[in-house]
Amino acid sequence: MDDMSDRQTPKPMFIGGQWTLAQDGDAIPVVSPADGRVFASVSRGKAHEVDQAVKAAQRALEGAWGRLDGVERGRVMLRIAEKVLQNAEELAQLEARDTGKPISTARNDLAVLARYFEFYGGAADKVHGQVVPFQNGYTVTVLREPHGVTAHIIPWNYPAQMLGRTLAPSLAMGNATVLKPAEDTSLSALKFAELATEAGLPEGALNIVTGLGEEAGAALASHPGINFLTFTGSNEVGTLVQQAAARNAVKCVLELGGKSPQIVFADADLDRALPIIVRAIIQNAGQTCTAGSRLLVERKIYDDFVGRVATRFRDVRVGTPEMDLDCGPVMNPAQLQRVTRYVENAKAQGIVLLAEGQIAPGVPEGGYYVRPALFGPVPRANALAQEEVFGPVLAALPFEDEADAIALANGTDYGLLAAVWTESGGRQQRVSKAVRCGQVFINCYGAGGGVELPFGGVKRSGHGREKGFLALEEMSSTKTLVQFHG
Ligand code: NAP
Ligand code: MG
Repeated sequence: MDDMSDRQTPKPMFIGGQWTLAQDGDAIPVVSPADGRVFASVSRGKAHEVDQAVKAAQRALEGAWGRLDGVERGRVMLRIAEKVLQNAEELAQLEARDTGKPISTARNDLAVLARYFEFYGGAADKVHGQVVPFQNGYTVTVLREPHGVTAHIIPWNYPAQMLGRTLAPSLAMGNATVLKPAEDTSLSALKFAELATEAGLPEGALNIVTGLGEEAGAALASHPGINFLTFTGSNEVGTLVQQAAARNAVKCVLELGGKSPQIVFADADLDRALPIIVRAIIQNAGQTCTAGSRLLVERKIYDDFVGRVATRFRDVRVGTPEMDLDCGPVMNPAQLQRVTRYVENAKAQGIVLLAEGQIAPGVPEGGYYVRPALFGPVPRANALAQEEVFGPVLAALPFEDEADAIALANGTDYGLLAAVWTESGGRQQRVSKAVRCGQVFINCYGAGGGVELPFGGVKRSGHGREKGFLALEEMSSTKTLVQFHG
């Protein structure tokens, strides 16, 4: 991977079944977050390549891909899952190098990618329409049909998982897809395209245009030939792509950020909660939309429990992918600056830094390593209690009672996940129902994975649902047939 030729010749994109360089030959360097060094490059596709990809997808719908029925699509997808599993170690090594994440996290991500293709491959022939009772003399059937060409713009935090999450339900429903991976992490997607082709995915069903967000991404979101859009990423860009989609009357699913609360009551099983709560903010160096980034604790146990979290935090260790510790570096210099700024601002405002994790000795210079940090008590209106850091920074806040816990949990612009920790069954139900978000975990937490579980946000965390069977509904539209037969 590290030879000069790999760095000099950009990896081509995958358009209409062909490996294609950018028309102008432009490329983007690929940097390892573990040491800050360039180790490859990918093509910098722009509007021209996006247009080629959308047209290839349109042709696929008219061609071999469009002619497959659900059973056949499912078989191709199951073969893709098998290819991913057979090549899982190579893919995981590539993903770990590209993202900096610990190798065991990358291995898990690849297992999840395979799961998406298994789950939706198995579902491809099981999405039923409806028969609607209507007036005498009529039969009304509601069919489920693909949207047509679906566009998918994904971020860098879980490149392989995101690819599976967004592409698999769309392909299962018979759409043809165009993917724009994040500029920082395109390698696993390109390798995936190779495997999907070997598995027999017809040309044009999957097209990958690598490039910059403001070039390839913007061109894809605004292309009049797309019929549906999914976007996962920041609120700022989410607003832009929704505006672009609106101009073409294209529906979109937005998966944006979060500030998910861990709500811990005094009667909770604290021994069980403790490692799960620490893991939920450390995982992927906190660069997880569903990171449990707010620790809300009932006041009477606040000092004691937060003290125990602090003790664990001091043992958290950050290292290279190969060291395979609790977390790796953050993604890029911008992320490093962002996380450092939140930490420095909080300290300058006098918020108590309760504990910090350790960067392992021997990590390469030039890597983007930050020490995980626990702050508390954080004032409720403070940026650390309100804004998504997207890094390994946990904000602890005390609450008084159940009503206060609910108000505090709902007191941000976001609504993605929440966890409720209590042994009281009544309280589990009351709090779960009162918290405004897309998933609630009771005495557990599930950032990432869970391909079966409908997922998505409310409020500024976005709209639409991915994962589970609901994604198949998102990725299709209905057609109502009204037949008069007397
Ligand atoms: P981002 O800057 O919004 O990027 C996401 C994707 O959009 C990338 O592929 C990016 O390309 C592309 N993009 C950038 N500008 C664009 C434009 N003008 N038009 C079209 N596409 C454009 O987000 P990020 O920094 O990669 O990820 C961090 C944020 O994503 C966090 O807020 C996090 O919470 C959120 N996130 C949410 C979820 C979820 O499931 N809800 C999952 C992961 C992340 P480039 O890579 O070239 O910039
Ligand atoms: Mg960018």
